Amino acid sequence: MKKRVFSGTRATGRLHLGNYLGAVKGYLELQDNPDYETIYMVMDLHAITTPYDKEKLAENTRNVVMDYLACGLDPEKSIITAQSLVPEHTYLAHILSSEITVARMQHLPTFKEKVKQHPDHVTMALLNYPVLMAADILLYKASLVPVGIDQEPHLEVAREIGRHMNEKFGTDFPEPKRFVTKGEYVPSLTGEGKMSKSVEGSFISLTDGSETIKKKLSGAPTDSGRGEKVPEKGGVANLLQLVELFEGLENRKKYEEQYLGDGIRYGELKAELAEFIFKELEPIQKQRKVYENDPSLVDRIIREGAEKARVIAGETMKEVRNKIGLIK
Ligand code: ADP
Repeated sequence: MKKRVFSGTRATGRLHLGNYLGAVKGYLELQDNPDYETIYMVMDLHAITTPYDKEKLAENTRNVVMDYLACGLDPEKSIITAQSLVPEHTYLAHILSSEITVARMQHLPTFKEKVKQHPDHVTMALLNYPVLMAADILLYKASLVPVGIDQEPHLEVAREIGRHMNEKFGTDFPEPKRFVTKGEYVPSLTGEGKMSKSVEGSFISLTDGSETIKKKLSGAPTDSGRGEKVPEKGGVANLLQLVELFEGLENRKKYEEQYLGDGIRYGELKAELAEFIFKELEPIQKQRKVYENDPSLVDRIIREGAEKARVIAGETMKEVRNKIGLIK
């Protein structure tokens, strides 16, 4: 039997470079590996755990699917759909949440961060976020999960719950491991933390045109351009990281030498970086147009993906119901 791969992105807007390098590049690599069956979703139920706009949710979900397809996800090779169309996710999440303590969830750094961001919206669903994510993965008995490094604490929860279920009830959930990509941590343009949809000014979207990319990069913080030591943190370090990711290690080294010598001219660095980024995004944007012009095709892909996913999900739920002693 083929091993399964599961991953997803929250339906909170369009994909950015962090999602692309940290997650989608991994989705693509595994989709083309015949040893794996790949399932990629848009996590709309995860999206509603923080404040959201009900007028935009469905559109955001479609937008992420279109980004996926534009990047090269292929419905002939992968199951592509929206999480909420497969109700078994919440069904399994409820069962798993009966096996993990509130204290374990409250101590997660990701939960604490979200509480800081939305102090007036600390809901049960927010606390349960990692349990729903564990259900997403375990439902398909996935053994590989292509996600960025920020998701490692959540994956640990999934492993813990899976192990617990196997020991207590005799289920056979495999241990899910993170599939690591070169861009597992794409830094923010603000000079602080990771690139994220929820932080304004931190990201470049896959749909950004050349001028927008230039403008966004021009706002990234820098320094005088020279010094005794190349910075390891902050705006300059982040720019150099982006240079490495999009232009390669050699160009990064070139700038590091400039920093230690005559100085970097950031205007030139940013213009060159903008060009490299746009070169990578241009074909994706062209492909996206095809799907933008054919919304019924996108909806069909989502619907058919859900049907395929529900077959696998239904099998797992039958097993789980049995093992935990629910009525037959
Ligand atoms: P965001 O944090 O922008 O809301 P999500 O939480 O929806 O993004 O994450 C979707 C996927 O993209 C996850 O696999 C996550 O690990 C990855 N990801 C998000 N931001 C980054 C980043 N800056 N660098 C690398 N991977 C990232």
